[in-house]
Formats: sequence, C-alpha cells, structure tokens
Amino acid sequence: SQSDHQALKRELQEKGVKYLLPSYVDMHGASKTKAVPISHLERMMSGSELCTGAALDGVPQIISDEEVAAYPDPNSCIVQPWQPDVAWFASDLWCEGQPFEPCSRNILKRVIAEAKSMGYTINLGMEAEFFVFRKNDEGDVLPVSQRHNLQKPAYDVPRLLENMGWLSELVDSMNALGWDVYSFDHEDGIGQFEIDFAYADVLTMADRFVFFRRMADAIARKHGGFATFMPKPFGSYAGSGAHFNMSIADAATGKNLCVPDGADPRGCDLSEIGYHYVAGLLRHLPAISAVTAPTVNSYKRLILKGSNSGFTWAPVFQCYGDNNRTNTVRIPGGGGRVELRLVDPMCNPYLGAALTIAAGLEGIREGLDPGAPHMENMYEKAPEELEQLGVKTLPRTLEEALDAFETDPLGRNVFGEKMFDAWLDFKREEWLSYLNHVSDWEIRRYMEFY
Ligand code: GLU
Ligand code: MG
Ligand code: MG
Repeated sequence: SQSDHQALKRELQEKGVKYLLPSYVDMHGASKTKAVPISHLERMMSGSELCTGAALDGVPQIISDEEVAAYPDPNSCIVQPWQPDVAWFASDLWCEGQPFEPCSRNILKRVIAEAKSMGYTINLGMEAEFFVFRKNDEGDVLPVSQRHNLQKPAYDVPRLLENMGWLSELVDSMNALGWDVYSFDHEDGIGQFEIDFAYADVLTMADRFVFFRRMADAIARKHGGFATFMPKPFGSYAGSGAHFNMSIADAATGKNLCVPDGADPRGCDLSEIGYHYVAGLLRHLPAISAVTAPTVNSYKRLILKGSNSGFTWAPVFQCYGDNNRTNTVRIPGGGGRVELRLVDPMCNPYLGAALTIAAGLEGIREGLDPGAPHMENMYEKAPEELEQLGVKTLPRTLEEALDAFETDPLGRNVFGEKMFDAWLDFKREEWLSYLNHVSDWEIRRYMEFY
C-alpha cells in the first residue's frame, strides 16, 4: 500500500540509498533494469517502469507495441553491500493487466502455486561454486591465486587464505544480508571456490542466486579479479556445479515432509513423499538438463574425469542413491532432502527450479516409484553392468538435452508456449553456432597432419 511504500522509502533514505533497480531477468537469468531515483519509489512500486518485452532474450522477437511493466517485490529488496547507494528489487513482469507469461519469475511462481495447492512449500539451497580469475596487462586470463601448481587444490589452506581479501568481503556481505554462510572453501579447480549458505523458500533462493552472481563478480572486480560462472573453464580440472538441495515442507506447519516417520527401509533416510519426488526427477532428467545445464560448456562438466585431475564429482548417470556423489540425484547424509547435482551456475534459477519442482510434484501426484537406490560408486561400473541395471547416461551435449526438452511435455507445460519456443530457438542457434565454429583444438590436431 501507499503507506508501506512511504515507510520503505524513508527506511532506504536513512540507509543512504539514492537509486533503485526494479530488476528482472531474461531467459539466461541475467539481470536487466532501469535505474529509478528514490524520489520516485512510490511510482516505481506501482509498476511505472516499462520495457519493450522484445528487447529481452526469451520473449518472442516480434515487433509490437507490447510493453511490459516491472512490479518490484518489496520483500526482495537488497541494499547492494558493495554499493550502498543502490537498492535492488526482484520484479515480476506484467503485461496488459496480466502476469506476463514468459517472465521467469512468474513461471516459477506458477509452480509454487501448484505446490501450494497440494499443501506444500518447497525449500531450496543452492551450493555456489565458481572460479575467480584476473587479467594481466596483455588481457590474458590468469588464476586469481598466485600459486596454481597443484593437481588437486581442493580444500587447500594457503590458496584459501591468499584469497581472503575478496572472499571475506563477499562472505561478510552475504551475512549482512542475513544469508547465513556456514562454510566456504577452495575447490578442486584452479581458482575455484564454493560458498555455502542457508536454504530458503525457493523464490527467495532464486532471487538470491541471481543477485549472488552479480555480487560475487562486483566484489571480485573491486579486488582486481572477476568471477566466472561458466561451468568448465579448464578441461583438465573439475567444473562448477550449483546443486539444488530441495525439501518439501507442509505449507501450514513448515514441517519437513522429506524426513521419514520411522526407519527408512530403503536406507536413504527419506520419506515416501521424498521418494516419489525423486522418481519424478528421474523421469524428466534429460529435459531438465537442457535448462539446469544450459550451455555448450555445461556438458564438458558432466564427465567422470578431467584429463589430469581425477574424478570430477559431476553427475554422469541418470540414477539416484544415498550420500555417494556419483548419482545425479543424491540424498545427502542425514537425509530429509533431495540433491540434484545436474545444475550448474549458469542456470537461470527461476526456470531451473520451476522445471525441477514440477517434475518432482508430478512424481508425488502419480505416486511414482524410483526403484532401489544405488549405494555403490557408479563411476566404477562397466558399461555392461550399467546396461543391466537400466542406468542411462545424461545427455552428452546441449543438442541431446534440447532434443529431450523438445519432446518431453513437461517443458511446454511449465514454461508456457512463449518461453518454451524461445528457449528452443535460442539454444538451438547457440548449439549450431558452436558446432560450426572451428576451434584451436582442430587447427592443432589436423592442420599440419600430413
Ligand atoms: N564441482 C562438482 C560439480 O561439478 C561438485 C563437487 C562437490 O560435490 O562439491 O558438481
Ligand atoms: Mg563443491
Ligand atoms: Mg552438493
């Protein structure tokens, strides 16, 4: 209401905010906005900020006078820790008095409403893995750590502490926003880091992840580096995931319904509802892959081994199991939640979560059975054994994933016609452009072959 808006304006003015960003995302989950001086907060909250829908990737590229309006969600407001005169809002897009169908946040909200109608609130934690690099005067990209001689830099102490300048500013900023970071480390790639923070309801987490990518990069840049969320910058080292950790709460009481009542006979410490949810994910994994592993580069992560760094802990097989990390769907130790390892940090978290949750809810609605969990190391199984077990591999390329996405009715149902078509058009073009590119590898390998 108008008085809430005035109170928000006073609060932000007291914090020194001068500009507001009524921000929304394109299909890639990249933030877009106009900047609004705080004197115009009330107008902005009432949807004054318009944009031409067709300027966004993910909106049908037709010339029309269709304008969409951004409605900022006051609950999402964040004063940017590294730039405190700017406050950011996640916004929903509306068009002609209706929620705009291909808006990513609206797409997720439709799935949240579906969960609610079944009596559930879905909670989500996202594990943020990413690389931080720097550039030298010649523009060459170098690891941010001065020492990058290790084959297995995971959990390394000197390389963690050498990066505390930008890392502590980032972690402090996250904590100042109430995100409750509980650990961070140097990961298994050169200059790769992970920051883990508390889960939240899925809409809040999707907003936070979109903001996180920008904040991590902005703070790294203040310190002379930059953050990259491309999942696999080095073929020879592990890549970055952004695993979804999901639980289903009773919408009325908040009780976690993924925790079993008694002992779990299947041995993963998961409830029946949790197993149905897992079965829904398994049914749709190849289609989900096209959105949670959305780039050409994503599929270079989904392999067993980097060329010189041992196992990657990235998912390869369409199966689920207990705490071991070789399953695409994992029930981490302690149970009571479901981890989807297929997600990487270039995922648009609204779209990725919408598709994933819709698949899980379908599993619950239909009472699907995921079969027996895989408790063994799946990386060590011979192809014949996997075939006997009926375990298929994930799509090996963006193209294979798109083929699955196109033929699975889930995508069209969840995204709606417009985003479904836009996703396929844009991503097919991305694949083709890659396929037709002649790479350095080809030149080295073939040019002077004879
Ligand atoms: N970096 C791994 C991945 O690509 C995950 C490692 C971990 O389990 O933290 O998914
Ligand atoms: Mg990790
Ligand atoms: Mg994980």
